[in-house]
Amino acid sequence: MKDKSLSGDTITFLGTGGARVMIANQILASGGLWLSLGGTEILIDPGPGCIVQSTKRKLRADKLSAIILSHRHLDHSGDVNVMVEAMAQGGLKKPRGWFFAPADALETEPVIFSYLKDYLEGIEILKEGKSYSIGNVSFTTPIRHIHPVETYGMLFKTGEHTFSYIADTRYFDGLCYSYASELLIINVVFLEPKPPIDHLSVPDAKRIVTELKPKVAILTHFGMTMWRAKPWEIAQRLSQDTGIRVIAARDGMRFDLSQLNG
Ligand SMILES: [Zn+2]
Repeated sequence: MKDKSLSGDTITFLGTGGARVMIANQILASGGLWLSLGGTEILIDPGPGCIVQSTKRKLRADKLSAIILSHRHLDHSGDVNVMVEAMAQGGLKKPRGWFFAPADALETEPVIFSYLKDYLEGIEILKEGKSYSIGNVSFTTPIRHIHPVETYGMLFKTGEHTFSYIADTRYFDGLCYSYASELLIINVVFLEPKPPIDHLSVPDAKRIVTELKPKVAILTHFGMTMWRAKPWEIAQRLSQDTGIRVIAARDGMRFDLSQLNG
């Protein structure tokens, strides 16, 4: 029997926590996003605990085609090395899998150990406005985010669907020009804006959702202020205010892209 997770298009939230205090306490997990898109498996932002969160859900790293890193911060990159080694089947066979990351995650203080690079088929550097493909999936990194390190979000296209991952950033209008798609996944660390810290807050998310009008928006990457405010209640309020279905991700939640049909 065919594994259902490999036949449909799903996004599994291996963790929904973000920022330092949340990560240090693991009140919410920090494992990143696992995409299963028509048989192509892709991992985004393997934060601390990714190997634990993925294996306990029977998601096999040796089936991954690629790992994509939005930026080098620890809550996104903590498990890069163990996940690269697992994707490459321990480096025991022929080189396997691709790693995508911004240049500054690979240069002076690389997030990936040099000996692991030989286990991979290749490394691709993410740049503003570039397009990439992995199996039957393509994605672009439309715009550089405003964040203390080089950071990109991604807009994915499968044969049937489009969805965007708006990784860490301060709000700027370019976000609303760059990520139009059926599904928006937005990293919302703060309940209220906290300048000068370069993260999105709930009012920012509301503005983005209102402008881009996706079929569905999923909030994730919650810091402590979001967690205390109950993200699912915030999502419900945003749905009422915007008329768009807004969901708060939960650790382990699997979103089936067929929900975007019709
Ligand atoms: Zn960050």
